[in-house]
Amino acid sequence: MDTDPVIGIDLGTTNSAVAFLGPDGPVLIPNAVGGRLTPSVVGVDESGAVLVGAAARELRVLRPDRCASLFKRYMGTDHPTTVAGRTYSPEELSGLVLRSLKADADAYFKRPVTRAVITVPAYFNDRQRKATIAAGRIAGLAVERILNEPTAAAIAYGFHDEGDKKLLVFDLGGGTFDVSVVELFEGTLEVRASAGESALGGEDFTRAVAARVLETRGVAFERAEARTPKLVSRLIQQCERAKCLLSREESAAVRVPDDAGEYGPGSAEVTVTREQLEKWVSPVLARVELPIRRVLGDAKLTPAQLDEVILVGGATRMPLVVRRVAEVLGKEPRRRLNPDEVVALGAAVQAGLVGRSAAVEDLVVTDVAPFTLGVAVAKQFGGDMREGYFDPVIDRNTTIPVSRVKRYSTMVPNQTVIVVRVYQGEARRAEENLPLGEFEVKGIPPGPAGQEVDIRFTYDLNGVLEVEATVVATRRTVTHVIARHARGMTEEQIRRAVRDMDKLKAHPRDEEANRLALHRAERAYKELAADLRQALGLLLDGFEAALEGRDKEAIARHRAALEQFLSLHDPAGDGGDE
Ligand code: AMP
Repeated sequence: MDTDPVIGIDLGTTNSAVAFLGPDGPVLIPNAVGGRLTPSVVGVDESGAVLVGAAARELRVLRPDRCASLFKRYMGTDHPTTVAGRTYSPEELSGLVLRSLKADADAYFKRPVTRAVITVPAYFNDRQRKATIAAGRIAGLAVERILNEPTAAAIAYGFHDEGDKKLLVFDLGGGTFDVSVVELFEGTLEVRASAGESALGGEDFTRAVAARVLETRGVAFERAEARTPKLVSRLIQQCERAKCLLSREESAAVRVPDDAGEYGPGSAEVTVTREQLEKWVSPVLARVELPIRRVLGDAKLTPAQLDEVILVGGATRMPLVVRRVAEVLGKEPRRRLNPDEVVALGAAVQAGLVGRSAAVEDLVVTDVAPFTLGVAVAKQFGGDMREGYFDPVIDRNTTIPVSRVKRYSTMVPNQTVIVVRVYQGEARRAEENLPLGEFEVKGIPPGPAGQEVDIRFTYDLNGVLEVEATVVATRRTVTHVIARHARGMTEEQIRRAVRDMDKLKAHPRDEEANRLALHRAERAYKELAADLRQALGLLLDGFEAALEGRDKEAIARHRAALEQFLSLHDPAGDGGDE
């Protein structure tokens, strides 16, 4: 074993996972409750302690105001989330999830782990990648590499593969969708093209089902969300369960709580068939097609030229998704590895590479720039000069690391200064793209228009962009690193966040399973019929008394009884690990 292990982390929208490269290949590290996936949910319980993972997901059902989820969608923005009266940045919330995964790794290795490779959707822009690095730092992890999720999946497959291949990686997770063409060539893994949507995933399918279930009862979803949030959060949980069940059954029951979110006399039961589900989610499903066509177009491939289609992400367990992918590509997709785990496994292989593990010495990984990068220029139209056009320097889907130079000239006589404005995006007009930063180049020798300036863009594997401008006549160079100038957390903000997160109260790690059992039982209690409720109430009383008494043996005994009961009677019954 390497003396300084580097861990690979899949920081997902709905679930996260941590793995490392062992002597026989990548291995997932279990969390404090023995699960391999940790829900990306953060909560604060009544005692003011922070919960992460399955326990927080249970708490979310009863107390959505005390929990945050789906915050990955806000990475790279200033969007704050209020949890139990305190606001958190997206970096802090992700940092808390990472902290929990780091604690799992620390416990596994019996010493602190400080280095990690973290995956992000290929679609993440510069800011979102930097926010992910900041989240790692908040968790006490040095982020050695940011890796695209589809690249990680291809690594997990490619690691065991011999021979040259062209793969399409179709990754539909809880909240993000990526599709990439990855080429394996003489031991080199290269992403040829990536496309996707940063806000499309299994949760959208669940919400579509919930919306239609409410509609059948004459209630509009948005209205219900505003007026009866408890009803909606519990209905979504029911629909999530039904959706997963419908991946293997023909029909599933959904209990619709009353307006207060209770399963009292005002509640009802609706049966959803697989056929209904397929009809209801078809507008959501339709959205996967365009990115598939675009990625093939960008990679200049026809579906027939693909050797294999790999499915990644929990939502690819839905038969209708598999069918649609097969229809669009005319090829049956494969799913050799567990779709929920494959990204973390690939990240672990990459982490092994970073840690210079001998097992992966031969594997070279290249990646692509997910967006076009360029500068704003003025254009001459007849006698008219118009500003604000976007001129690409590095095209979308160029293999990185990459360095490209382009020559520009001054527009007016005696112009001694130019302002280099850097943008990312695909629009023809600069202002419609994302501004990444700007800087001045001074000292251009006075003279006629047309003095030349070379602008070099260097984009590295972490998505950090360095822009260098050189005045050709004088060789004077100005360098600008976008990493430091893009809006994002400053060093001081990260330090403050670390201090703030350190101050948060947390339960000891070995009590995590108790928290999960308690929150799950409390949630189930509200959902059960009277007779079962009474039985569960007694078990809960016993468990709480044991917790008060701090007698380890009694706690374990009461928890086992509680878990046994829940495994038989919990209507939501998803135990916290899928
Ligand atoms: P991931 O982020 O890859 O863990 O994917 C999570 C998403 O996969 C969630 O939206 C789940 O609802 C969905 N999912 C997991 N298992 C199944 C299943 N058996 N059938 C349908 N969707 C599933």
